[in-house]
Formats: sequence, structure tokens, C-alpha cells
Amino acid sequence: MAAPPPTRGGRGGGAAAAPPPTPPTVGFVPLPGGALAPRGAASSGGGGRALLRRPRRSLRPPAPAAAARRPVRRAGAGATAAAGGGAPRTPPGAPSAGITDGAAAPTGAGGAPAAGAPPTDGGILIDAAGGDHLREECGVVGVWGDAAAAATCYYGLHALQHRGQEGAGIVTSAPDAGELLEHKGLGLVSEVFGNVADLERLTGTAAIGHNRYSTAGAKSVRNVQPLVATFRDGPVSVAHNGNLTNAPRLRVELELRGSIFHTSSDTEVILHLMATSVSSAGELSRRVADALGRVEGAYSVLILSRDALVAVRDPRGFRPLVLGALPSGAPMLASESCALDLAGAALVREVEPGEMLVLSAAGVTSDFPFARARRRACVFEHIYFSKPSSVVFGRSVYASRVRFGELLAATAGVPAADVVVPVPESGVPAALGFSAASGVPFQQGILRSHYVGRTFIQPSQGVRDIGVKLKLAPVRSVIAGKVVVAVDDSIVRGTTSKKIVRMLRDAGATEVHMRIACPPIVGSCYYGVDTPDRESLISYRNDVEATRAYIGADSLGFLPLDGLHDFLGEEADTFCDACFSGNYPILPVE
Ligand code: SF4
Repeated sequence: MAAPPPTRGGRGGGAAAAPPPTPPTVGFVPLPGGALAPRGAASSGGGGRALLRRPRRSLRPPAPAAAARRPVRRAGAGATAAAGGGAPRTPPGAPSAGITDGAAAPTGAGGAPAAGAPPTDGGILIDAAGGDHLREECGVVGVWGDAAAAATCYYGLHALQHRGQEGAGIVTSAPDAGELLEHKGLGLVSEVFGNVADLERLTGTAAIGHNRYSTAGAKSVRNVQPLVATFRDGPVSVAHNGNLTNAPRLRVELELRGSIFHTSSDTEVILHLMATSVSSAGELSRRVADALGRVEGAYSVLILSRDALVAVRDPRGFRPLVLGALPSGAPMLASESCALDLAGAALVREVEPGEMLVLSAAGVTSDFPFARARRRACVFEHIYFSKPSSVVFGRSVYASRVRFGELLAATAGVPAADVVVPVPESGVPAALGFSAASGVPFQQGILRSHYVGRTFIQPSQGVRDIGVKLKLAPVRSVIAGKVVVAVDDSIVRGTTSKKIVRMLRDAGATEVHMRIACPPIVGSCYYGVDTPDRESLISYRNDVEATRAYIGADSLGFLPLDGLHDFLGEEADTFCDACFSGNYPILPVE
């Protein structure tokens, strides 16, 4: 039975609103301001239907005074270290730092690299900025009732390219068609759909699309989504953003019962669970609810059949998913609102954690078929993953990053600084915030080449060094003779930061102070983000002073975890920050 979307006050409280007697259905008609109204309110067809719009959430960060009064979780001492001073912070579980010379690389107890040891080489993908960031997860797009569904999906995937560059695909469905149509491949969206005929062949008025970055499963065209399977009720396709923490165990169980997997992706588990859902034959939504009721972890998933599109977000809402309305009134779903922007759709609202939307000829229904859980939205979406133009979890990503920079300036300022320089391009909003709050001029002292692309995705450390130099170049007229504050969004292994510091010194900087607009990353992610083993995380193995020594900066400062919590305000305990705090909402099941 369908239930209405929850009110904001009910989130995380475990109290579901009383279900109405009939599922609310909505025909989409855009109103001024982007709301989706019941179709009956403005045009023919389906009067008296429920509205799927929720109260808007404030995009403003909490006022500093109010935030200061709120209790916050504490995670250790301050996170700033300077050459010759500053209290080093030891992350949870990390060995204590004992060296300040980045050239040393001793081995610690148990064979683990000791503090100050250079990061090990794991063959990490280098992004276009040349950094060793955490990697994006995946992006999904869905469209229902749109005459140009495949093309709309294509534009949406373009906007979400930052979430995955390994492969892309689109699957379409036409009413009364006997099959789903698909096209997918390895590469960027523009490469996979480089031949316009491939897109034109995808007829139909409903579509789902996927950009892949592999967080589970090998890099293979077989793993590129949407995955397609045929049940006895017909073909079904699935596109998934996230990571299922109990997928290995479920996979073994399914294989012991005779399931034959075609991919190494955890997403295929969902299809097999749907196929073996004997209690709900015939109803796609019941099959989906039955299958997802058995999985744990992170999922924002779109499932397409011949006659319905089902969108589901896991009860903790780790990964984002938003609902929009195209100018025609057709509903559109996407990982981020930037995909709606490019397709000309208006943002309506988030798909709520634990919510299942069913889009069909009958309209849109909303249901909450799973046990409620406290929301755990991934805070890293605001730190690095999401596009700054997006609104994610009800907050402007750009505004968040500027605020991170302001808070960083307040907690780890550099009084003698001459210039604030962002590490392009993800460090730009935070550097603007740091500059505004500190009064130190912002300058683009490092320029990024836009023409290197993904050429230098290499596993060897030596080539990685060359890649950074090719992608980032200092502007000597900005740097020479200056005390420079370099602002980046995060440090993963420390390799890029080390090279950037050296680059700035070689360009004539008299001092280089590195500022990082998030807390030290001390743990891996199990919820759909590709993180190295924690032993490869420089802040797991080193305190702040040892990290500073390794990267060679005159000082190093992080946004404290307390500051991040203050920024999130009353929503702090509805965000996942496990890679900073070690507080994992769910642990993986082998
Ligand atoms: Fe996001 Fe970190 Fe939590 Fe993973 S562990 S969901 S990256 S905040």
C-alpha cells in the first residue's frame, strides 16, 4: 500500500505517516517556480490527484552563532600543523606520528608503512586535475513519458559525466513494445554515443541511463549499466548508484540456489533477487520491494520494464536522487539536479530515503516499503563528488564549498599570507570562501590544462608524477616572492599535494601553506565510493604534522570535523561522515 512522502520533521524519527486509502497518483504539469502540480489542476486528465511536492529546505548554512550553541561530536584535537609548531592530530586508529622528514620511509609495526612513509602505489585513476581524489561513484538518469526519452537521458548523462567516466549506457522502453532497447559501452558519454544512429535507434518514451565508475566489479563492458535481464513477465533493466554491503553473501546464496551471474557487479544481485521473488509475480514494484528489502547498503536505483519505471533510494539515503519535471510535464529522475538543468527540467524534490516512486501510465505513486532508518546522506557529495551547480540533499553544493573555505579560514588562517590559490578546479569554491573570510586576495596561481583528459591514467608512480606536471601549471607572476595559501578539497594519498607544494616552491613561493576543506580521511567507504585501502590513506597512517612533513608544506590545516558538524547544524547526525570519523552506519557482510 502506498504511503505519502514523509514530512521533514519525520525524517529519521522512525515514525511513518499513516498511509492513505489509495496510492497517490500524479500527472505532471509544471507550474511557475518548477513545482509539479496535479495534472487536473491545469490540464485535462486526472483531476484531484495528490501533490508530490514537499516543503522546500533552506539552502542557507546555519548562522555561526546558532551553530556554536549546538552540541557537536568531537573527533580529536585541532587539525593544523605548522613547521616547528602546531599540535599534531592523531586520527582514530592511526599509528602515532614520529617523524617530520618526508624523505624517510620506515616500516611500522606489523609491516604497515609507518608515519611519513610515501603512499603505496595502487594504480589509482588520475582525474583531469591530476589529483588523487576519492573517485565518484556513478550517475543515474530516468525519464518517463517523454517523446525524446533517449536524447533527454543522453543530456542528463552528459551533465553527470563527473560521476563516472568508465562506461555509459541507455535503455529505452516503448509502450506495447516487446523488448527493451539498449546501447552501452566503455568510455565517456560522448564516446559511447559518438554515432548519432546509436541514439536514434533507442526509440520509446521511457528511458534509464547510467554513467559507471566501478566501485564493485571489474572494468568490463559486461559490467556497464543499465543491466538488462528477461523475467517470465518480460524484460527488465536496472541502473544503480551505490554499493550493496551484503552483496557477496547474497551472491553466494543465489549461486548455491542455481543463479548464474553474467557480471561481477553487485547490481546484478538485485536482478537475481527480483527474478527469484516468487511472492510477487506480475507486479514490478512488488518484485523490486521484495528484492531491495533483502539488500543492505547504499542504492539509488532505477528499474525499467515495458510498462513502468521504478525509482528507489535506500532507507539511509546515502546517495542522492532527485525528481524533476520536463517542460512537457514528463517526470525526470537524476542523481543530481545539474542533469535536470541540462535537460531543461525543473527540480521538484529529492526522492526521500526509503521511498519508492513508480512511474507508469497511471501517473506516479509513492511508497515507503522498507523499515525506516536514520538518514545517512554522504557528506562527501558536498565536499567533492557532486557538481557545484547541483542542489544535493536540499543544499547548494557550491554554497557548501564556499562555506567550508570560510570555516577553514576561521580555524586555520594564515596571517602572513599574500595570496590564496585554489588547486583547480575542485578547490576553487573553498578558496573563494577562504579568501573572502580572511581578506587575502584570491588568484588563479595554478592553471589546469583542459586538453590532457584521461590520457595519463597510469598505475605507476613515475608516470603519475609526469601527469601532474602536464595537467597543472603555476603562474609565476602570481606565485613568485609570495606567501601562498593553496586550498584543495581533500587529501587522499598525499601524492598530488606533495607535487603541488614543490611546484609552487619552484615557481618562487617564499612559503606554501596547504589548507584542506575537509577533515583528514582516515577510513575507506563501503557505500559506493572508490577509496583506497585505509593503509594507503595518508591521514590514516600519519598525523597532521607527519602529513605536513611528507607533502613539504610550511603548514597544513584541515577543516575540523567539529567545524563540518557545525556547518551541518541540526542535520549533522543525518549525514554519513564515516571516512572522517570511523562511525560506519553499516559494516560490510562477507
Ligand atoms: Fe560518503 Fe565517506 Fe560516508 Fe562513504 S564513508 S558515504 S564517502 S561520507
